[in-house]
Amino acid sequence: MSLDGTYDDGNIFAKILRGEMPSARVFEDEHVYAFMDVFPQARGHTLVIPKHSQARNLLEEDPQVLAPLILGVQRVARAVRAALKPDGLVITQFNGQPAGQTVFHLHFHIIPRWEGVALGRHAGGGMADPAELKDLAAQISAMIA
Ligand code: 5GP
Repeated sequence: MSLDGTYDDGNIFAKILRGEMPSARVFEDEHVYAFMDVFPQARGHTLVIPKHSQARNLLEEDPQVLAPLILGVQRVARAVRAALKPDGLVITQFNGQPAGQTVFHLHFHIIPRWEGVALGRHAGGGMADPAELKDLAAQISAMIA
């Protein structure tokens, strides 16, 4: 899907938000939902999405939704840092399939990095163990300030 198109509410993140698909929840408030990526590029790879949105990407988002979303990204990124003590954090966001986007509900990736540990493939690696994701989600969740 290029930058042009319409929102499909059958996308996987919309299903997660509606409770139709399971997810390892890290945090939620009235604006945002954060959960573990099931094909993590690194241990602790977390996604943050707006709860009330039909934007496929950043360009389409209402500024009033974007403001609390980016604050949620910062809040969760701080919790990831506190819980997992990475050496760095990559925060990414893809717009359109040619740019690498695979799920068309706006989201930010928070990817912890450690010195000497290579970054896994984007949306192409192996599926994580659900029990391990649940444990990581609990560790990060405990550090939400
Ligand atoms: P994008 O490629 O759109 O930037 O990112 C989509 C992300 O969603 C990828 O990192 C991919 O691993 C993740 N993902 C795909 N399907 C699922 C799923 O069913 N559950 C979760 N938690 N993450 C998913």
